[in-house]
Amino acid sequence: MPPTFAQLGVPKPIDRALARRGITRPFEIQTATLADAMAGRDVCGRAPTGSGKTLAFGIPLVARARRAEPRKPNALVLAPTRELADQIMSELRSFSGKVRVAVVYGGVGYGPQIRALRGGADILVSCPGRLEDLIQQGFADLSAVEIVVIDEADRMADMGFIPAVRRLLDQTTTKRQTMLFSATLDNDVASLTRDYQHHPVRHDVGKGTRDVVQADHVFWNVARTNRIEVSARAIDATGPTIVFCRTRRGSDRVARQLSRKGILTAAIHGGRNQNQRTRALNDFASGRVQALVATDVVARGIHVEDVSAIIHYDLPADHKAYLHRSGRTARAGRDGIVVSLVPPDQVKELRAMQRRLGLRQQVTDVDLTAIQPLDGKARRRKPRGAPSGPSRQPTVRGRQHGSPGRPASKNGSRKPRSNHKRKASKSRNKRAPAGARH
Ligand code: ADP
Ligand code: MG
Repeated sequence: MPPTFAQLGVPKPIDRALARRGITRPFEIQTATLADAMAGRDVCGRAPTGSGKTLAFGIPLVARARRAEPRKPNALVLAPTRELADQIMSELRSFSGKVRVAVVYGGVGYGPQIRALRGGADILVSCPGRLEDLIQQGFADLSAVEIVVIDEADRMADMGFIPAVRRLLDQTTTKRQTMLFSATLDNDVASLTRDYQHHPVRHDVGKGTRDVVQADHVFWNVARTNRIEVSARAIDATGPTIVFCRTRRGSDRVARQLSRKGILTAAIHGGRNQNQRTRALNDFASGRVQALVATDVVARGIHVEDVSAIIHYDLPADHKAYLHRSGRTARAGRDGIVVSLVPPDQVKELRAMQRRLGLRQQVTDVDLTAIQPLDGKARRRKPRGAPSGPSRQPTVRGRQHGSPGRPASKNGSRKPRSNHKRKASKSRNKRAPAGARH
């Protein structure tokens, strides 16, 4: 039995606010880091996705942040993507009480962000680019920052943000507390730790065990031309699914083709603006769409609960991408299915990746019975227009009001109208840019 939050020194009001969300016992990474982090020590934490890193740094942040002057936040969280920044903000606000949490990132208007900074943000959650921008314009100043969190540091490195992260850290006080969290701690991440952390307490959760998400992994031999048909059937069989594609253009095309097969679908990728992304996520979370088609850019940081399955429609570029994508299901120990569609010419490449992941499953013919939900409830979609039954519904974390994992709304029997759906996918596609990158 792990200690309670109270035993780890978590203040009562935070403990109570978490308990209201059904969070009563710390996860492993939280047990490992909370006491040190609350004591102000630097922390360097590695743990697989879905293991609860946000609260591991979020609780000490809220507990320790001091009241900020206008424009001068006291604590700073750096995150690689807008979605992640938003989700961190929501999670913090669920127990922050009087501590003011603001968020800044690109792709949306400056007005509300500038107002939030002027009003005083005790904790500022931000993506590096927009924050640098706001600092240059004089709307933010990091000289009073005493606590810094770098979340998903390996992703920051992958996205080329390390120089910006360094410039930002250089503007904070030198006596600051620095917490760094990442799924891997090598290369650029190691150099950040070396240069910016002071005798960090290292916590390597799950060391020795492979960093593979707790899910069923299946690998199917599928000709490229059959991938849509197979994906549509898999989505039918399992429930809410995220389908990963390599490019923006590919995602839009797959979304369109799945719609034609009767699967309600939304696309989310770097070519879509913030409103479109938010709408797609909300539609997925509320059950209005069954599948979210995404590129790798948004793989991390999509924290949607109760995603039944991940489909690697295009195989991931490497084993790291496989982990990041697959980590979107089976979050927080729930069950989930990860399906890789393997064209014949990529079997070799796949085997190499499997070896790095420590996965030994054979590449088999398509077998839909292998992906039936573990709880035995078939989630087959009824004929078009019929109620879809008590299917599992995803919920976006932070926006829900019930306990974690409970559906955000009870519209499981919503009747999608197929012509409406067609229109939606058409207009979506018109709006989508033609770029071919992520
Ligand atoms: P990570 O950042 O490590 O990928 P998250 O911080 O996003 O993981 O946490 C994954 C999920 O687990 C979230 O939905 C979060 O609310 C939930 N969670 C975190 N800690 C606990 C806990 N101690 N008890 C129950 N649920 C938790
Ligand atoms: Mg996280």
